[in-house]
Amino acid sequence: MSDECTVVIKGWELMSYYSDSSNMCWFMLPELRDEIERLHHLVGNAVTKDKYIVVGNGSSQLFQAALFAVSPSDVSDHPINVVVTAPYYSEYKNAINVLHSRMFRWAGDATLYDENKPYIEVVTSPNNPDGTLRVPMVNSLAEGKLIHDLAYYWPQYTPINYEAGHDIMLFTFSKCTGHAGSRIGWAIVKDIAVAKKMATFVQSSTMGVSKESQTRAAKIIAVICDGYQNFKSNESELFFEYSKRLMRERWEKFRGAIEQSMVFNVTKYPRAHCNFTNEISETYPSFAWLKCEEGIENSHHCLRKLNICGREGERFGVDSKYVRISMLGIDDEFNEMVKRLSNAKKE
Ligand code: PMP
Repeated sequence: MSDECTVVIKGWELMSYYSDSSNMCWFMLPELRDEIERLHHLVGNAVTKDKYIVVGNGSSQLFQAALFAVSPSDVSDHPINVVVTAPYYSEYKNAINVLHSRMFRWAGDATLYDENKPYIEVVTSPNNPDGTLRVPMVNSLAEGKLIHDLAYYWPQYTPINYEAGHDIMLFTFSKCTGHAGSRIGWAIVKDIAVAKKMATFVQSSTMGVSKESQTRAAKIIAVICDGYQNFKSNESELFFEYSKRLMRERWEKFRGAIEQSMVFNVTKYPRAHCNFTNEISETYPSFAWLKCEEGIENSHHCLRKLNICGREGERFGVDSKYVRISMLGIDDEFNEMVKRLSNAKKE
């Protein structure tokens, strides 16, 4: 779709910091907000009605913005504990620890949380690294705030089985279409006070979000939505069907190689009805979460011997029997990886 998605920006355009002074998120281009709402309405994965949208430099920035917004502002209290069920996305811990904040601190696995103190729980569903669907897990009488990271809640990765309406939901262009380099993420927030604080965080850290990136994201999302609106049945596949087919084909090849190898195990996902595609299907996560068979202690080393780079289980809060590998490389890389994996049995 290169021509349809082309964006031309003249030298004099988009120069101001400001995008929409009537919106509390004044740096968000109205066309991006409209396209985000249109996309969620089309896919049915999140409620946007009566909610506030905040754009950020990737959802990574909005993760920190959300922590800032829901942490108690009185720092004479101890920093609030932030927990996530293991295996968790490794960057949460880094993003928290790098700040040495007086507002919040990393407190590890949500299922092990046993302090009777307020906490923030991050719920990543589908989860990175293991692709499972997640719900809050903390078992405590203390007050908890939730941040839902729904980066992978798109039809190419998982059946869309409910319209999410959580208090704070994070989404990203990086996973929706794969345009990670544009650094566009958005939060859908129920409470205007929280949304305002998040916008303040983005203002204080980066004084907004690149308008060139916003323009490109708005255009690409519009092309996807237009495709569905103008679809005639004799045309080729639409974006999410196309992407889902690629994911399915990759997972089939990948499972074939893993089964042959007899070195690793990979999670089997339940099938579910997708309200968007109206079919029963599997989950096709963007990462494969591998566990080595009995007798092998370190999956990462095992992969290194095959010249495959993964990310060690320890970084996700579990042991070295686990390793994560990406399913989203370019075709040549993916095919080469599958070839090397299937050689595992021979060694
Ligand atoms: N959340 C999850 C669960 C992710 O996997 C990622 C990217 N790997 C992000 C957030 C960050 O996305 P972004 O590129 O929007 O900062």
